[in-house]
Amino acid sequence: MSVLTKISEHVYWMAPGPPDRPSLCAVVGDRRTLMLDAGSSSVHTREFLDALWAESAARPSTVVYTHSHWDHVFGGAELDGQVIAHAWTAERLIELAAMDWSDEGLDRRIAAGLASPHHAANVKQELPSPRSVEVAPADVVFQDGLELHLGGATVSVRHVGGDHSADSSVMYIEPDRVLFLGDCLYDSPEGTLTAELAFPLHETILGFDAALYVEGHHEFVSSRAEIESLIGKMRFAENAVREGSAVSEQDEDTDLLLQAFRAGQSR
Ligand SMILES: [Zn+2]
Repeated sequence: MSVLTKISEHVYWMAPGPPDRPSLCAVVGDRRTLMLDAGSSSVHTREFLDALWAESAARPSTVVYTHSHWDHVFGGAELDGQVIAHAWTAERLIELAAMDWSDEGLDRRIAAGLASPHHAANVKQELPSPRSVEVAPADVVFQDGLELHLGGATVSVRHVGGDHSADSSVMYIEPDRVLFLGDCLYDSPEGTLTAELAFPLHETILGFDAALYVEGHHEFVSSRAEIESLIGKMRFAENAVREGSAVSEQDEDTDLLLQAFRAGQSR
C-alpha cells in the first residue's frame, strides 16, 4: 500500500504504484477538500481516502480530473462526490461508462486492435474478474479552466492539451506553489511526441510559478530544476531528431525521448 505524504501546507500526495496507479493528491482547505484525480479502482480510491482521513481527518467533497484515461478516473464513483472535468474528458467518461470491461470485452478490443495487451493486463490486475466498472459522469464541465476556493488554498484548473491526451488539464495550488501535472508531459499512447504540441505545453508549464511538480507516474515529486532539466532533454531530443544529428551514449530518459520524437515525426 502506498503511503500518503504531506508535500506542502495544504497538499497530500499518494505516490503511484503497480499496475498502473497514478499519483493522487488532496488539497485540504479550511472549508473544503478537493481530490486531484480519482485513482484506478474503488480499492485504490478507498486506500487514498482512508489514509487521508487517518492523516488529516479530511474528506474530499469533489474530485477534478487531469484527463480521461481509465487509471485516473475508474475510482471516481467511490468518492461519492462531485466530479469536475474538461468538456472532452466529460465526453470520454460517458464513452468509458458504456464500454464492456469484462475479460471478453477487453480481449475483443485487443483482437480488433483497439487496445494493447499491456493495457488489458493492467485493467485485469487492478480490477480482478468478474469486474463491474462504474464510471461516474462529470457534474461540472469546464472549457479553458476554473478556480476552486477551498478556504486558505486556491486551485486553478487549466486545460493544456499535449501529445499524451488532448483533454489534459493541470491544477495549480496556491499559496503552496504545487503544480499537479497528471500525464500531460508524457508521450501519446502510441508512443509519439511532437514539437507542435510539446513546445507550447512546455511554455505553459514553465509559466506557472511552481516550486513542486507532481507527475502522474513519477515516483518522486519534482523540483523546478528537475522539470526544467526534463524539458531541456525534450528540446535536445527534438532538435537531434529534426536535424538528423547522431547522438550517442545518452541517458535512458533521452533515449526514450529520441524514440518518441522520431515516432512523432514519422506519423
Ligand atoms: Zn494517461
